[in-house]
Amino acid sequence: MIPSRRQFLLAAGLLPLVRPLQAASQRVVIVGGGWGGLSAASHLRRLAPAIEVVLVDRQPAFSSFALSNRWLVDHGASQFVRQDYAALAASRGYRFVQASVDGVERAQRTVTTSAGRLPYDWLVLAPGIRENWAAWKVDDPQAVAELLQRHSGAMLNAADLPALKRRLAGFTGGDLLMTIPPAPYRCPPAPYERAMFIAWWLKTKKIPGKLIIVDPNPLMPAFRSILLDRFAEQVIYVDHARVREVDLARKTVATDVDDIRFDEALLAPPQQAADLIWQSGLIRRIDGGQASGWADQGGKDFRSVADERVFIIGDAAGLVSPLFGHFPKTGHIANRMGAIVARQIAAQTTGQTFPALLPESVCHVASSVDPLEYTRIDTSYRRRGDGFLLQQVRQTRQPNPAGEDVAWAEAMYRDFLLP
Ligand SMILES: Cc1cc2nc3c(=O)[nH]c(=O)nc-3n(C[C@H](O)[C@H](O)[C@H](O)COP(=O)(O)OP(=O)(O)OC[C@H]3O[C@@H](n4cnc5c(N)ncnc54)[C@H](O)[C@@H]3O)c2cc1C
Repeated sequence: MIPSRRQFLLAAGLLPLVRPLQAASQRVVIVGGGWGGLSAASHLRRLAPAIEVVLVDRQPAFSSFALSNRWLVDHGASQFVRQDYAALAASRGYRFVQASVDGVERAQRTVTTSAGRLPYDWLVLAPGIRENWAAWKVDDPQAVAELLQRHSGAMLNAADLPALKRRLAGFTGGDLLMTIPPAPYRCPPAPYERAMFIAWWLKTKKIPGKLIIVDPNPLMPAFRSILLDRFAEQVIYVDHARVREVDLARKTVATDVDDIRFDEALLAPPQQAADLIWQSGLIRRIDGGQASGWADQGGKDFRSVADERVFIIGDAAGLVSPLFGHFPKTGHIANRMGAIVARQIAAQTTGQTFPALLPESVCHVASSVDPLEYTRIDTSYRRRGDGFLLQQVRQTRQPNPAGEDVAWAEAMYRDFLLP
């Protein structure tokens, strides 16, 4: 018997996702509902109302890392931000599909998801990062799962933060190990800010514990005196030390400097572009064909070098300039990349022109606690005559903060997150 069209589509897994397209309509599929993907979806919806916009994420909700370090130790009245994708998509006018994307067939312009295949005209990949546990000689998926459950540093997925908060609340003393990933990693000041709040919490709660920080990078200057002097009794800072191996049974990490035993740990291995970028063959190769670990996309248009119909934004993005390397892996930059890519797709599909944008980033990072003091980090870009991007970073002390960090977050969320 010849199968009907409906039976054929059902068998191919297409039916749950495919909707009849209007004659001239084009479909943009966005994979990843983090800062980058949500921003691309919202801006596209505004700039090109006739395009069909489909957001795919394996999770049911967005969770935010921003301002989470104070919340982890209940400093001030900070809140944990979580937003349901289905409600957000309904209010902003795009479709949400909860599914895992397992591959991209670029020749057919289709993504394969756990809920079926999904054709696209334009594809925006914003899948964030993965953690490279193999660099610490942990290859077995079960061992990785156990490490994540017991000692994750919660830098991969903000939905893991409540579990980290519970683990910290259960820490009653001993050696609390915190590892910082080698650069580039997401939100460069975040681990130092987190370390400072944890040290403050150990001190004010009189917990008989030491925070041991293992850092392969140079210590960020804004945190030098607070971590090394002000909290000298709480903090042991192990400088320029790379973790080589982790032994969960012995609760020990082997580093360049020494073996370090811990009672509790926040482990954060080296970071790379998320699996999907590897599965799609979109990783940048360096001399000799070695994988760089990050995506291969343009520095100004974020178009994949391999495929002009595919854009890669957010933390997964790789090298953008030989002068400074990567854009800082921040939510603010991911938001701007989403807006830039939305403009390009809207221009190509609507025939309109939009002024070209360069990203920028603002970061309010607490650099002292009791009294609370912030450092505002402004990062901006301009094109040099030869076309290369130049980066300028300006740091300003905010000794009397008046909620600038909260105002920044609220402005960001108005752009892409609030229904
Ligand atoms: C502790 C900490 C504090 C931070 N604080 C700040 C801050 O104050 N300000 C700031 O600007 N930035 C901050 N950041 C950085 C910011 O969170 C990241 O830069 C931002 O999340 C990057 O956005 P993204 O869209 O690239 O990726 P993500 O936000 O990680 O989103 C990726 C999404 O893709 C989905 N996904 C991945 N693969 C698939 C797949 N195959 N199928 C389906 N779905 C998939 C994931 O489920 C996820 O929802 C902080 C980071 C940390 C760790």
